[in-house]
Amino acid sequence: MFRKIKRYWFQLTHPEMGEVWQLHRVTDEHSIQERKRPYEITPARLESLIVEYRRKGYEFISMTEVAERMKGKDGKKFVAVTLDDGYANNYEVAYPIFQKYNVPFCVYICRGMITGERKEDNIEHYKMLSIEQLYALDKEPLCTIGGHTNSHVRLTTLSNEQQMQEVLGCKLWLENMLGHIIDDYAYPYGAYNAESLAILAKIGITRAVASWGGGARKNTPDRVLNIPRLLVTEDTIQ
Ligand SMILES: [Zn+2]
Repeated sequence: MFRKIKRYWFQLTHPEMGEVWQLHRVTDEHSIQERKRPYEITPARLESLIVEYRRKGYEFISMTEVAERMKGKDGKKFVAVTLDDGYANNYEVAYPIFQKYNVPFCVYICRGMITGERKEDNIEHYKMLSIEQLYALDKEPLCTIGGHTNSHVRLTTLSNEQQMQEVLGCKLWLENMLGHIIDDYAYPYGAYNAESLAILAKIGITRAVASWGGGARKNTPDRVLNIPRLLVTEDTIQ
């Protein structure tokens, strides 16, 4: 009973302001493996969602702006679009749609998936961003590049030192290549613990996203390193 009242009070004092969408691949060539399907949407689905949410009065904003809203800044109800891992179709298929509708987006790069060092889990079936495509996205004002670890490992299974290597290794690789600071992050599988939060804060990450948790809420500045997201599939947003 007390817990219920507590939750009700939290929801009342921290109203939902908007949604952070989690996407992976945007493609018409669907994977053969059924279990991978939640990680793919068609370009038609992406385009119709943007049109629908604009019609409903939502504003499309960057992750930097999401963090500001969580700290209390006012604004319309919003959507922020994020894409995990760094698939080539983010550039080839999704990017032209974001340009057409002037939609900001954030791409979280897993270093090992780009360099080819991470090969397990059938990742080799998917074409990843080339370094040239990564540079082009980084130069695009609508796009923010974030980190997504060296080898797409569940951080909660690692020691502190290993977590630091995974997170910082990817961050420094991106920073050396792109020539600027990377301060956005996504946890693989949305998995993090108290140590992960401390490590991210220590190395200067200012925004990090989980893979669950519903909408983004007002007056939650303590959640900018575990921002909730909603997974967008071909049929649902949940
Ligand atoms: Zn991922």
